[in-house]
Amino acid sequence: MISDYDDFVMDEDEIFESDSEDDDKWERVYDGRFWEPEPDGSVTLRQWDMFIDKASFLDVVRDYMVQEGIYMRYLKNEPTRYTGKCEGKSCDWRIHASLMPDGVTFQVKTIKGKHSCKRLLDNPAATYSWIARKLFDIVRAEPNISVKGISKILMTKYNLHKNANTIWRAKVKILGLVKGKHEEGFTLLAKYTEMIKASNPGSTCFIKWNEPICEGIRPVFCRMFMCFNACKEGFLSGCRRFIGVDGTHLKGVYKGVLLTAMGIDAQNHCFPLAYSIVAVENKENWAYFFSSLRAIIRDDLAGQYTFISDRCKVFL
Ligand SMILES: [Zn+2]
Repeated sequence: MISDYDDFVMDEDEIFESDSEDDDKWERVYDGRFWEPEPDGSVTLRQWDMFIDKASFLDVVRDYMVQEGIYMRYLKNEPTRYTGKCEGKSCDWRIHASLMPDGVTFQVKTIKGKHSCKRLLDNPAATYSWIARKLFDIVRAEPNISVKGISKILMTKYNLHKNANTIWRAKVKILGLVKGKHEEGFTLLAKYTEMIKASNPGSTCFIKWNEPICEGIRPVFCRMFMCFNACKEGFLSGCRRFIGVDGTHLKGVYKGVLLTAMGIDAQNHCFPLAYSIVAVENKENWAYFFSSLRAIIRDDLAGQYTFISDRCKVFL
């Protein structure tokens, strides 16, 4: 983008380097401190501030824009240098930063002008990614927080008003980071069951994988059965000889069906016993579930249990 400022900006580093009147300039360049937030967490940008790289510099600049309620347009944005100017009408504030000789560290070389602009309420600098970064801990601790709830936090904490769509995208991004992607979840399943067995000895975990259709492709998840040892011990020692079974359809990308077995404890409360994830509710998968369940019931008690179900047609 060619702008009115280009002629000036293109030479900003050169102007800095050829400014012979200021002899102490280079000393200060190397005497710069690595930028840190103020004790109250606010952002102040000063000449000579250093950043570990350009990305860190841009992150701090974005925080500064939101804090000050300004939006800055870049005049130069290259791997080696960055010049930005406040977009406010008649505002002359600008910043220029560039790479240091080590080729990685970024340093603020000049800050000029003063803000004379009005504060932006819906600041474009506060993108959904920025909101996700700032509110990550809050949404992770309270994943059911509403868009309205997040909006209130943005207003109180950052004096910021964002539309519902941006907030929703931020929330989806955070939840995606917290829960991981479904595909990644499947790849971790084998390790997860091994860890369950190691940390909960006596637990029963079976996973069936379908053989890959050709070489070089990973096996495909088929179904799994899980019974934690605490559930097994609790059921065998304190529950009635009664097992309720049911299946429910799973929502999400990969669908599937959750099969569950519940016991009834001495106070007539439900007691979780085991569960299974299968693709569909059919005879084969129910047979798999019951044969897995059989493995956790003591032989001497076999035949003494009563089962209850919704008489799903696959049983008949
Ligand atoms: Zn300004």
